[in-house]
Amino acid sequence: MLSYRHAFHAGNDADVIKHITLCGLLDAMTRKDKPFLYLETHAGAGYYGLQSLRARETGESDRGVRLFKDLAPGALPHDAELWLERVRACNAGAGLRRYPGSPWLAKSFLRTQDRAVFAELHPVDHGKLTRLMRDSPRSTVVQQDGYELLRAFLPPVERRALVLIDPAYETRDELARLHRALVEGLQRFATGVFAVWYPLGARHGAEAIVAHVARAARSTPRPVKTLDLRWERAVPQERGDGTIGLRGAGMVILNPPFGLEASLREALTAAALRLEPEAAGAGRGPRIDVSWPVPESA
Ligand code: SAM
Repeated sequence: MLSYRHAFHAGNDADVIKHITLCGLLDAMTRKDKPFLYLETHAGAGYYGLQSLRARETGESDRGVRLFKDLAPGALPHDAELWLERVRACNAGAGLRRYPGSPWLAKSFLRTQDRAVFAELHPVDHGKLTRLMRDSPRSTVVQQDGYELLRAFLPPVERRALVLIDPAYETRDELARLHRALVEGLQRFATGVFAVWYPLGARHGAEAIVAHVARAARSTPRPVKTLDLRWERAVPQERGDGTIGLRGAGMVILNPPFGLEASLREALTAAALRLEPEAAGAGRGPRIDVSWPVPESA
């Protein structure tokens, strides 16, 4: 059963951090002329209306993308600027009515030589994403379990791939499925770039998720570099209904492209300060942690 709908959360603070990270990754992948395959296992609808009933009900974008709305072009570091340019483009340069999800961002980076496959199980979001990709002959949208993509499409004929795994962590066995898919993906294509998003303060603990990813990285005979980028709020955020929102979020990246760490550290630090200016003013800014979870010996 699919109860999670991203439309309630689109453009919130965790989305901002995730999508800046994705733009940094896509930018790094497109720096070489050689083609690559982009796989996305949990794609969502592609873009979201910020005036929709769902979005207005939670108001989450008010404390996310809306805080960036009035920034002048060029105000942010490179990778954050790449994201904000695309938010503006998604709104045809005027106002902030729509928020681009990860497939929209990926589509904007893909060149004629690249290929993309997106999986989305929810019929409504799958339909919307299919329509978004209609004019992209090298993009395919499938309505199947996203974890299966790693088995079905790796290794890629392009011999380069970026895989984004962005589940809602709804199911009890999510970590086991994530681990299995990654082990298989790495067995099939050990040099692929795999990025796994995770929340802080949700059902599955962040440390458990990162440990599963690191364990998968240890499953190959070849050493796999592992980068963990984590954003943590300084001040807990109360939602409209009185509950506490996520404490933060992170992305574990296997085989990160060269130079990614430095550029994302700068971009995410600037974005985190913008998301929590009140905390920065009080001298306790949000944290961006960058770590290299060294695979322990098995
Ligand atoms: N990646 C999107 C973005 O950043 O714009 C957000 C995706 S949202 C966090 C997770 C999506 O995964 C939901 O739209 C949900 O319907 C879908 N989903 C859940 N389980 C899935 C599965 N096993 N395979 C494919 N999609 C799934």
